[in-house]
Amino acid sequence: MDRRTFAGLAASSLVCSPGLISAQQPRHVTIIGAGAAGLTAAYHLTRTGVQVHILEASPSWGGRLKRLTGFADVPLDLGAEWIHDDPKILGRILDQGETDLGVATINYQPQTYQFWNNGKLKNFNALRHGYEEVKFFDTTWYGFFETFVLPAVREKIAVGAAVSQISKQGSRVSVRLTDGRTLDTDKVLVTVPLSVLQRDQIAFQDGLAPHSLNALQDIGFGSGFKVFLKFSERFYPDILFEGSRASVLANTWSEKIYYDAAFGKPTSQNILGLFTVSDEPLGRVSLDDGALLQDVLAELTEIFGSVVREAFFDGVVQNWSRERHIMGSYSMENYGNDDIIEILAPVKGRVFFAGEALGQDDQSTVQGAAFSAKRAVEQMTVA
Ligand SMILES: Cc1cc2nc3c(=O)[nH]c(=O)nc-3n(C[C@H](O)[C@H](O)[C@H](O)COP(=O)(O)OP(=O)(O)OC[C@H]3O[C@@H](n4cnc5c(N)ncnc54)[C@H](O)[C@@H]3O)c2cc1C
Repeated sequence: MDRRTFAGLAASSLVCSPGLISAQQPRHVTIIGAGAAGLTAAYHLTRTGVQVHILEASPSWGGRLKRLTGFADVPLDLGAEWIHDDPKILGRILDQGETDLGVATINYQPQTYQFWNNGKLKNFNALRHGYEEVKFFDTTWYGFFETFVLPAVREKIAVGAAVSQISKQGSRVSVRLTDGRTLDTDKVLVTVPLSVLQRDQIAFQDGLAPHSLNALQDIGFGSGFKVFLKFSERFYPDILFEGSRASVLANTWSEKIYYDAAFGKPTSQNILGLFTVSDEPLGRVSLDDGALLQDVLAELTEIFGSVVREAFFDGVVQNWSRERHIMGSYSMENYGNDDIIEILAPVKGRVFFAGEALGQDDQSTVQGAAFSAKRAVEQMTVA
């Protein structure tokens, strides 16, 4: 077989010191996907002297971490934005203990709430006592990884490297890209979104397929997009929900909120965000960005009137459902009986899995992806 190899990657890889590697540790691990899980795994493996390569299909690292700069005078998160936990999880991601690592965060406790239901706008500010989360002050989830994780792993990332096949190569594993290049490695860590596995975009050969791959179809993977709009004046509350109070406050995976994206941030600009994820695959996500923006402006005009068009400066759409290598928002409900931890258990000590869908109690979050990566690194060193 004519095996083209990763000359560029091989040249950039670290020469690992055998003295740092325990008997159980792999010498070389290939990580598929450079999102929160892949980057976290690479960070920890590198620290123990394991040689790592990260293969990322898209042209840039981050996955569902993505930053918008130049639109407002503060950076904005086009993907993950909230810290859905105590900020001390930042230290835990990096094994630095319970610490926020000195990263400035804000208590996100919106004060003004409105509901748009049946053509009427109603205030319900009593909610300000019941909801509080954490956000970054002047950085983003993307910025956190850029500062604390990327310096240790940047040289190991190959972008534009979409993996299509994983197979055995003697006692090792062969990873094949869509362009025909291959890379042999000791172990593989797959961190691609659930949507990629559900569409069989990676073929697992030679008995390396996960346990009951079909059962992955029983796990929901939502659609989703975000929009940021810049206005010359502020006519909106801290949070605007659509629907009745009962339907909005019901515990479902689908969410749609307009929110003051500048809340608590070091800016006086008027930036309105729209966050929408749904457990239904279709809907507005099928529109192109221009049509989606117009649709959102029309909706806001119906709610707030002509001030919307008069005060509108600019808007940006990030449609995650149309991102080729993501195809949605995040994993949601499990409609089947098989636990995803069982479905994506390590295969023959060679193929391992991580990512937000394996985040257990932190499923569908950044820290869930990161903690699943740490668990996978531990599994590798004993397998
Ligand atoms: C709109 C939206 C809002 C969110 N808000 C929050 C929030 O506020 N707080 C929070 O904690 N979380 C939030 N999340 C979820 C969070 O972003 C994710 O849980 C997390 O970033 C997922 O990380 P990951 O590493 O598991 O996957 P990803 O970030 O998706 O990384 C997987 C990588 O694999 C790559 N890939 C795919 N196929 C291949 C292939 N064949 N070969 C090579 N590479 C491939 C992809 O390009 C991608 O870069 C949000 C997500 C979305 C979409």
